[in-house]
Amino acid sequence: MKKVYLDYAATTPADPQVIAAMEPYFFEKFGNASSLHAYGQEAKKALEDSREALAEFINAKPEEIVFTSGGTESDNSALLGAAYALEKKGNHIITSAIEHHAISEPAKFLEKKGFKLTYLPVDKDGLVACEDLKKALTDKTILVSVMHANNEIGTIQPIAQLAKIAREKGIYFHTDAVQTLGHIPADVEQLNVDLLSLSAHKFYGPKGVGALYIRKGTRLETFMRGGDQERGKRASTHNVSGIVGLAKAVQLCRKNMESEAKFQSALRDRLIKEIPARIPEVKLNGHPEIRLPNNVNFSIKYIEGESMLLSLDMLGIACSTGSACTSSSLEPSHVLLAIGLDHATAHGSLRITMGRWTTEADIDYLLEKLPGVAQKLRAMSPLYEKK
Ligand code: PLP
Repeated sequence: MKKVYLDYAATTPADPQVIAAMEPYFFEKFGNASSLHAYGQEAKKALEDSREALAEFINAKPEEIVFTSGGTESDNSALLGAAYALEKKGNHIITSAIEHHAISEPAKFLEKKGFKLTYLPVDKDGLVACEDLKKALTDKTILVSVMHANNEIGTIQPIAQLAKIAREKGIYFHTDAVQTLGHIPADVEQLNVDLLSLSAHKFYGPKGVGALYIRKGTRLETFMRGGDQERGKRASTHNVSGIVGLAKAVQLCRKNMESEAKFQSALRDRLIKEIPARIPEVKLNGHPEIRLPNNVNFSIKYIEGESMLLSLDMLGIACSTGSACTSSSLEPSHVLLAIGLDHATAHGSLRITMGRWTTEADIDYLLEKLPGVAQKLRAMSPLYEKK
């Protein structure tokens, strides 16, 4: 059976060049980067070269990079770290209604601990408004966290404008760039952020490794205490092979990002045009233009996303409904509710995300199979019968 992977936002395959770069660090060059002997120094050199490569890619200084175990840890460290470092200054944090759970769950935790949280609304396309941020700021606000692009609907936020509003008042600004790094430019100076999270498995690197950019002078409380790795900011023996893989993935994205974005956005726009032409009563979710080059999200009315996923899976097509982390729950996605969809429409969402190995033929196959799946499921849908 033909197999078509269209779930790159959940995770990407590691590039074979990434795996080749990592391999020596499991056996020949297995040293602990904190050891003083030659084995350790060899690992340390690889670690610091990787840090430089990542720093250069996001226009940061190497000492502003802290390697972590991935996006979730970076997001938690930014939110909890800033909250506890600045609690004497204020207890108010602003975020958006459509953040990934890696932000919204620590935000809920902080609420339980007595912090005040404001969740900025988004418009029907998923955009946060600068005016809403201005109105939400108080003299107790210590941090604003708004994601660079949304993992479900792909909408890209006006981070530079939002960050300017916060930073002019001396308030830290964090962005979760897990879905953007390696796909569109994420330059910390242009974005004007104090903190930025990223994760290697979203840009053809290995799973379980990521980084947090911390602008020089930004105060964060550490919650991984132990050894003095990462200048005391994040204890634990370095995942040298993973970090080398992350850096190799960065190097490949630096080379390929522009051409890949161009190719993928052409496929995206083809789907945005052809799905509604082939299937009646569908709705594009997310901004029609200001969206990730590889993301398409449609609600196919009167159908449940889960049934659609399973039917497509039987045809060898892997997509997603909402984010991978929530697809096991039956609650409709908080992102789709936040852009104003009713529960039934939110339940019928299909996310198609493309990547380095997506071909025109993959999209042809999806476009050939999806209308039949929708028709079959609608024929069985009580919602469709009632309309
Ligand atoms: N933030 C966003 C926007 C994501 O899409 C994800 C993963 O899906 C994460 C954070 C969590 O990253 P990780 O899987 O590396 O922990």
